[in-house]
Amino acid sequence: MLLPVALDQTYDYLVPQGPDAEALRPGAFVIVPFGPQRRIGVIWDRPAGEPGKAVDPKKLKSIESVLDAPPLPEMSLRFAEWIARYTLTPLGMVVRMMMSAQSVFEPEKPRFGVRYVADAADPPRMTPARQRILDVACDGMIRIKSALAQEAGCSTGVVDGLVASGNLIEVAVPERKPARLDPAHMHNTFATDQQRAVETLRAAVDAKNFSVSLLDGVTGSGKTEVYFEAVARTLEQGRQALIMLPEIALTSQFMNRFEARFGGAPAEWHSALSSTDRGRIWKWVANGEARVVVGARSALFLPYPDLGLVIVDEEHDQGYKQDDRVHYQARDMAVVRGSLGSFPVILASATPSMESHVNARTGRYRHVVLPGRYSGTELPEITGIDLRVEQPDKGRWLSPRLVEAMAETLQNNQQSLLFLNRRGYAPLTLCRTCGHRIECPQCTAWLVEHRFRNRLHCHHCGFSLPVPEKCPKCGEEGGLVACGPGVERVAEEIAERFPTARLALLSSDLIPSLVEMRQVIKGIENREADIIIGTQMVAKGHHFPDLSLVGVVDGDLGLAQGADPRAGERTFQLLHQVTGRAGRAFAGGRGLVQTYNPDHPVMQAIISGDREAFLEQEIQIRQRGLLPPYGRLAALIVSARDKGLAENVARDVARRAPFSEKIQVLGPAEAPLAIIRGRHRWRLLVKASRELDIQGYIRAWMEAVPPIKGDVRLSIDIDPYSFL
Ligand code: ADP
Ligand code: ZN
Repeated sequence: MLLPVALDQTYDYLVPQGPDAEALRPGAFVIVPFGPQRRIGVIWDRPAGEPGKAVDPKKLKSIESVLDAPPLPEMSLRFAEWIARYTLTPLGMVVRMMMSAQSVFEPEKPRFGVRYVADAADPPRMTPARQRILDVACDGMIRIKSALAQEAGCSTGVVDGLVASGNLIEVAVPERKPARLDPAHMHNTFATDQQRAVETLRAAVDAKNFSVSLLDGVTGSGKTEVYFEAVARTLEQGRQALIMLPEIALTSQFMNRFEARFGGAPAEWHSALSSTDRGRIWKWVANGEARVVVGARSALFLPYPDLGLVIVDEEHDQGYKQDDRVHYQARDMAVVRGSLGSFPVILASATPSMESHVNARTGRYRHVVLPGRYSGTELPEITGIDLRVEQPDKGRWLSPRLVEAMAETLQNNQQSLLFLNRRGYAPLTLCRTCGHRIECPQCTAWLVEHRFRNRLHCHHCGFSLPVPEKCPKCGEEGGLVACGPGVERVAEEIAERFPTARLALLSSDLIPSLVEMRQVIKGIENREADIIIGTQMVAKGHHFPDLSLVGVVDGDLGLAQGADPRAGERTFQLLHQVTGRAGRAFAGGRGLVQTYNPDHPVMQAIISGDREAFLEQEIQIRQRGLLPPYGRLAALIVSARDKGLAENVARDVARRAPFSEKIQVLGPAEAPLAIIRGRHRWRLLVKASRELDIQGYIRAWMEAVPPIKGDVRLSIDIDPYSFL
């Protein structure tokens, strides 16, 4: 038995006699007593973790009951074990991710609706509200009470009254079913390069064994259309397919294209689902009714009984790495899942990660290339604007050339997009009198001004306070000034410069959920905005047909993260993706990148569009430094409320690292983000060559470390993506 808690071992329980015994197969969910509590457990088919002390059989407790939820398929158990071993996370925590649909484990509530009774006499007292309800209901459809009341504009009490009078009757609402998908719903005609790619991917599906293909094509080359054909083939085989997208890219645009291709909607899996929806979709996947899932990274942990294809779109995206609790990289785990399940995995991107790129070069992955845009239009022309020479006016952020290009674009009746990867109004508030910078009381971070809300926010812990009128340090009134731009400040400048242009501001803090975000995106597609200003939300996968100009307000922003070996790669990807939004449907798109470092290799690569030169150089750096993918990294973070305690434990952990000629342990050093939520943080970095078993090394090391107690926490991050 395995429990979804931070423990790495299975427990033994007695099997009760009776009718339930038959349902007790591996993967089944059961209720068991655990200490003083009762908990949901999963029946595991082999022992995990430390072999526990032999328990006196007389003391063994018994399973209480079997839950009426579909069991986890055996593949899910093996996958969970693999992830736990690889990420050095307790198996129970991994299984908990697989159970992230609480309502699956609760008794199902039958849903009732009401239907019109045609041959009933008029109600004894006919009010206007009652009449409205009957007017709506007389079409004979079954409606949920609240929905009917809402449609008729009255309270559910009125509906109850009509049930009592016999004019409406309560009936069970038929269960919802996923849409039927038809692999032959639409026949696409493909360009030559596309056709070749389609055939390669179809062949990979037909082979019914494990392979990885890197679908590498510029933005607009038709990657989505091409991989849809692999999905279609998988459907024809009768197996399930999963398409993973960064959460932000799960737009209605994508869903519409899917529906157009397959004649029905896929099952969607993302953080905006209600608990009921989560439960429903979890079950659809488990019983095989959901044939295709489109979802964010956690969709990988759904209980597929017969998964036959995983596509990881925008595979380079950082959002695939989860950085809390279980530190996993969903793209890498998708490849693992393919290998366990013997099916093909397709990684798609216009700017593949260095990891995938190197794997394609060495022949471990199949390299499927789409060299040009489907529409035949050229990629936008990218120009650098040297901010040292072409300075914006004082207190402004846009250089004259960028402003001019925007004016032209407006005149031509086309859209422009300004990209700045910084939320809020200003990243720093400074007192002009005493020089005080307003920091978060719980983190090593400045508070960011958000002017729409008139508050200062910490982007690390969520702390906020109203923008103060006086300096909290010297008390001087009116001396506080905002330093540097965030998207809100750029929006302010635009509103002043182009007062009649319609603005759309896309920033995750201003758009509360995926649902609203879809509306905003739709508005932009429909030309309801002339100028779009956004953070990295705008870089992902959108297709805005009328967009012809992309301006990058601060091209250097992502390069400042010194210790992060992926800073260059990531900046290149982000700038390439965001400038690639320009001129997707017609010629003459352009990108203007403002920078103080026009000679930086990343800027050079973006401006020249020479991806290969950039990759070549990056490969050299990685090889020389034994950085991923040529070397392996793991980060250990020790944290505690007490500064001295965190440091002492970190030093003690470091001292106990076993000696190995092939492994370097760097640190401990105080983390760049030294304090988060009041916890002091110290980091250690483990570096090993590619072929070394870094997990085995760390496991042996941790056995030599005394138990971490009290307020201290030690977290291990294999293949870290964050170096803060
Ligand atoms: P990518 O995913 O590589 O950015 P998309 O698949 O989004 O590219 O394709 C870009 C645009 O070109 C989309 O509007 C898509 O519908 C269109 N397109 C691509 N290939 C075809 C095709 N073979 N037939 C019709 N339209 C296509
Ligand atoms: Zn904070």
